[in-house]
Amino acid sequence: MDHSIDVPKRVSYIIERLIGAGYSAYAVGGCVRDSIIGKVPSDWDICTSALPQQTLEVLGKPNLVENGMKHGTVTVRYDDENYEITTFRSDGVYDDNRHPRQVSFVSDLREDLARRDLTINALAYNQRDGLVDLFGGAEDIEKGIIRCVGNPDERFSEDGLRIMRTLRFASVLGFDIDEETALSVHKNAHLLKNISAERIASEFNKLLMGKNAERVLSEYYDVIAVFIPELLPMVGFEQKTPHHVYDVWEHTVKVISFSPEDRILRLTAFFHDIGKPECFTVSPDGTGHFHGHPDVSERIAADVLRRLKYDNKTINTVCLLVRLHDKRPPAEPKYVRRFLSELGEELFPELLKLKRADAMGQSEFRRKEKLEYISELRRLYDEELEKGSAYSLGMLRINGRDIMSLGVRDGRQVGMILRKMLDFVIDGELENDRERLLACAKELALSDNAGI
Ligand code: ATP
Ligand code: MG
Repeated sequence: MDHSIDVPKRVSYIIERLIGAGYSAYAVGGCVRDSIIGKVPSDWDICTSALPQQTLEVLGKPNLVENGMKHGTVTVRYDDENYEITTFRSDGVYDDNRHPRQVSFVSDLREDLARRDLTINALAYNQRDGLVDLFGGAEDIEKGIIRCVGNPDERFSEDGLRIMRTLRFASVLGFDIDEETALSVHKNAHLLKNISAERIASEFNKLLMGKNAERVLSEYYDVIAVFIPELLPMVGFEQKTPHHVYDVWEHTVKVISFSPEDRILRLTAFFHDIGKPECFTVSPDGTGHFHGHPDVSERIAADVLRRLKYDNKTINTVCLLVRLHDKRPPAEPKYVRRFLSELGEELFPELLKLKRADAMGQSEFRRKEKLEYISELRRLYDEELEKGSAYSLGMLRINGRDIMSLGVRDGRQVGMILRKMLDFVIDGELENDRERLLACAKELALSDNAGI
């Protein structure tokens, strides 16, 4: 197979300069992998036999962005793009399954490739030597196989994060994991306990968004359970209802794969039913129910996401979507406006996508009606936006100052009057018209039984 690679001008320039000065230099890792697969690489890493100081001398200081002398990485900037140039290294002995005790610079490309995690990532390329593939990475790409460089048990013991990277690449690229590597992933999963929450979460996000997430999650739930043990009760939990053909975990995995490849939606799908096992009851006819499960799922999602150090915006959004995922407002304008008020304009269509994925991951029982209902909600949502209907306090044609000028002093009371009027407007009992709102506010402010 022809493996000539389209290397960006700047990258060839850097490589040529280094080679011209007597060093060896290659594009390496993810960029070579992606080029062979036919994907546009997100960034180009370069490796070289030159020491950082020597790289600087060759390329000249003006383009220097960061000088990681100790780690061997020099970052330079050309035309708004950063390029990392790293001296060949070997990682030596590892402490605590994470940190190499010592990193030593080496002059040989082979050693640098040997320290890399997977064969598909242990590829180097330059125009002079073409593809340098010492571990069968190109063949593994062709066959769609993820395999460790060297002995998997050793490689995972050196750095537990590689376990997640293995699953991530299997999911994103749709590749199979080689049998020896797969066994080792299961065997060494516990090593993820030593890896920081942030690094795990970053790989977990990519895994969830991969096209092969369904298979990876079903086959490797034990690995995910090392950092999210809360998922275990879902596995094998039969639902005993005509709406479902899958157990809770199988259903969850289906919903993830039916969801768009979007981080928030896939996280929501992951957590949406995680509270079901805790809420299970059976009615006399033997049908299973899960009353209150969205709230329990929300609580678990919040616990897990906080523990994995997700940012607050992600946590709040996922929690809101999980809490509301099973809500089924009547497909009528008034109820759609209420739902819109709970979700906001942006999240409303997102929740509908999740609902659609949820329906697709259930049995075929009433599926057609479920999907039609969701389309109808979407149609009504578009209609309300088109009409410019008010669904938030900020959209009312009256504000807190107006209420205060009516003599209401207490801030809390001001808020309650506004909220009450918004509810009237949402329910279609009051027009969003300044004069009418003012009249209503006056009445509410004076009224003893305003419910406030
Ligand atoms: P992407 O950038 O698309 O997420 P990548 O493979 O480029 O994927 P990076 O984190 O950018 O991932 O790493 C660049 C290269 O460094 C990898 O291709 C691999 O050769 C090597 N590498 C990264 N992380 C590890 C690791 N934990 N153990 C061994 N080698 C690694
Ligand atoms: Mg990369």
